[in-house]
Amino acid sequence: MAESSITIKKQTGDTRGLAFAIYARGKVLSTTGNYNEAEKDYLETITIHKEMGERLGLGMVYNKLGSLYVKMDRLKDAKETVKVGLDLSDKFNIVIIKFKCEYLLYSIYRLENNQAKALESLEKYLDQKEAVINTQTLKVIENYELINKMKDLEKEAQVQKEKAEIIAEKNRAEEAVRVRQEFLSGMSHEIRTPLNAIVTITSMMHEKAGSEERQMLNSLKYASNNLFRIVNDILYFTRLDAGTSSLETRLIKIKPFLENIAGTFEEEARKKGLKLALKMDVHLAENYEIDEIKLSQMLGNIISNAVKFTDKGKVDIEVEKLEGTIDSDKLRFKISDTGEGIPNEFIDKVFDSFSHTKPVMTRKHGGTGLGLAIVKGLVELHEGHIGVSSELGKGSEFYFDIGLKKQVEKAEKNVPVSTPLQGKTVLVAEDNELNAMVVRKLLTKWGMVSELARNGSEAIDKAKQKVYDFILMDIHMPEVNGFDATKFIRSEENMNTNTPVFALTADLTASMQKDYVQYFNGFLWKPLQIEKLFDALNSAA
Ligand code: ADP
Repeated sequence: MAESSITIKKQTGDTRGLAFAIYARGKVLSTTGNYNEAEKDYLETITIHKEMGERLGLGMVYNKLGSLYVKMDRLKDAKETVKVGLDLSDKFNIVIIKFKCEYLLYSIYRLENNQAKALESLEKYLDQKEAVINTQTLKVIENYELINKMKDLEKEAQVQKEKAEIIAEKNRAEEAVRVRQEFLSGMSHEIRTPLNAIVTITSMMHEKAGSEERQMLNSLKYASNNLFRIVNDILYFTRLDAGTSSLETRLIKIKPFLENIAGTFEEEARKKGLKLALKMDVHLAENYEIDEIKLSQMLGNIISNAVKFTDKGKVDIEVEKLEGTIDSDKLRFKISDTGEGIPNEFIDKVFDSFSHTKPVMTRKHGGTGLGLAIVKGLVELHEGHIGVSSELGKGSEFYFDIGLKKQVEKAEKNVPVSTPLQGKTVLVAEDNELNAMVVRKLLTKWGMVSELARNGSEAIDKAKQKVYDFILMDIHMPEVNGFDATKFIRSEENMNTNTPVFALTADLTASMQKDYVQYFNGFLWKPLQIEKLFDALNSAA
């Protein structure tokens, strides 16, 4: 039947009709298992449709060719073909092809066991299917295919069932990841403890040992330090992966911080005859709120790789201000080297965990393959962006952009006359004499007058006798602690129910005490940060 149709179309010179006839033959060949022949027919149809500019026909054949490749177990070809079909239907908004291709893509991802992608395609398919049914397109489709409504509904139910299965599978996979992370994290902790002992004892023995033993101890030290690094990497990575890390920033001077990090690698670079340079933008602020440990790790990992994979030339570390507001700057940290470079096909995977450009056997340098995955995780924790470009044999350039809060310019704080704190009274409740002395000295410097209460009950007594402008309350104190004393001052008969009270404590969990936080105007942490205390008092003055 298809054959005779082809002959007629050829005879009548109906090229468009001929394409559809060949397409029909391809479909028959495909159902009867003649895959190679069917492929030829589909490819020929594509050529004719392209010449004729027949978009709908082209979309249909891409979809069928994709299905054929699935049958032939050529998933890669199937995916490519179906993507071409999708692009085409996207470009010309041929909804019917779009949703068919999306369904096919969904089946391919399922075969590949890629549940996340499968689900994504399935969602799109269902969305588009609705769109198809809701539009007039359905009428056009009827010219090409007979839609059996009952069958459709059946298929829909099947799809919904599969969708539920995928979601269940995804949940199971997530649970497995969580269990794995907990295990790795626990195991790393367990290994670190005895390792600590090995490293410490090795160092102690090193001092007493003779020269021969020293050499062996050196090797032992090197090996255990390496192991330490690997275990630490795994631990950091699992924490990041599990989303349990958070930033702990403090205001620091960025220049010495960066010089320090660069300095750590100077010796190693020098030994390899490399030039290591640090360039800092003159527009950088002096101080930024930085999580030192994490930023050191981010820079350290990239610089260490740059030095490791470069045998001659240089490693440049550059820090540039990209943009800024009154209280924060977006900075770019860029590390470029003139090393071996990264192969093109690997560049997309370089931030994946356990990634190496070379197989284990041919690798010159050790490493877990977690370094850059950790850096990427840390950059994401900073809500930043990371990137890399590289040329084989010429070198690589890694960069990340992150926003950092900076110190807002303020008036000189050590000049008491100009502050609104001048002459104000403060009750300092603190049982530790040294701490009390430091705080009170500071308050005097700001022109304030302070009185000391050595525990919570003394603080309550004083609060009953006199109005203070501020109360600084230590939390862990004998007799009555800072929580109860503050609760009393806020809610019982005394002269300071409205006085601002700031907790001053070394206990980081204090601010989580839900029953008490409401009584405080704020929490200040020890060791005391002068700026923060000054700001807190000023804001409440
Ligand atoms: P590892 O901790 O094992 O070094 P990384 O995640 O830091 O793992 O790096 C992964 C791989 O990326 C390295 O093994 C190396 O092949 C490649 N790589 C990273 N940085 C560079 C660089 N600057 N030059 C060349 N290759 C690099």
